Amino acid sequence: MTIIFKNSICFSLVLLLQVISADLFAQSERDQKLILIHVDGLSLPHFLDEKERGNLPNLTAYFGVEGIIKNTVTYFPSKTPTVISSVKDGVTPDNAALAGWIQTDENGNNVRGMVSTFLQMAFSKPRMATTNLIYGIPILDNLAGPAMQNIPTYLRDYDVIQFFWYKTDTHAHFYGEERYLKQLQVFDREFGKLIRRLPDDVNVVIYSDHGLTFGEGIDLGNEVEAIVGDDLLAYSFPTLYLNDPDRAATHAKNLVDHTAIAVTFYRGG
Ligand SMILES: [Zn+2]
Repeated sequence: MTIIFKNSICFSLVLLLQVISADLFAQSERDQKLILIHVDGLSLPHFLDEKERGNLPNLTAYFGVEGIIKNTVTYFPSKTPTVISSVKDGVTPDNAALAGWIQTDENGNNVRGMVSTFLQMAFSKPRMATTNLIYGIPILDNLAGPAMQNIPTYLRDYDVIQFFWYKTDTHAHFYGEERYLKQLQVFDREFGKLIRRLPDDVNVVIYSDHGLTFGEGIDLGNEVEAIVGDDLLAYSFPTLYLNDPDRAATHAKNLVDHTAIAVTFYRGG
């Protein structure tokens, strides 16, 4: 692996909230119940701002100060399909089944786009959480809250529950920042209902796969296309698929030198 970078590297931050029961180690392994909640696109700055404004009372009360881990290093690539498939399979991101929203086969052929990737992501989730995906779709998203309230029931039969909360991300994409912030509050309210029904000795971890920014950004797709030209087979941030992988080093350097991109990684031969 070779890394080319400008004069600074910025690590994005992801948010991790956790309450690990104090008597965790005193319990038998069988009794250690874990709830893992994936809140899609929960950005740290937005979370902290909303918390400061008092708009997330349930998360604040439940996790306290010590339960919020602010400065973790993000998953990379921090793309929803990559995070979901690697967490499910218990592998590092470079071994994840899905590299992002576009894939090729091992030989660099057969580009598969978003629909195919979406379907593969849906079925790389725990079977019972597959329907969580449709609760990200506006209108159907009203079912996300009631679905999350099923967790205490499933906890009777399962030691580990993973729940995917997508509507924060989808509302941000469809409607913008104001609705996104509202959705953080909706999650907080539903989380408040959930914890009132949870046993005391359960462990809860909330994490996010990536953050979100609003306003005008740089159209990286156009810049990448202009630099890489005909050699570009497919691009889905942050991954480039090349027709000629031997030219990876040249493209990596050109991207750092001539675009706003600050750092590139590529596998050398
Ligand atoms: Zn996501």
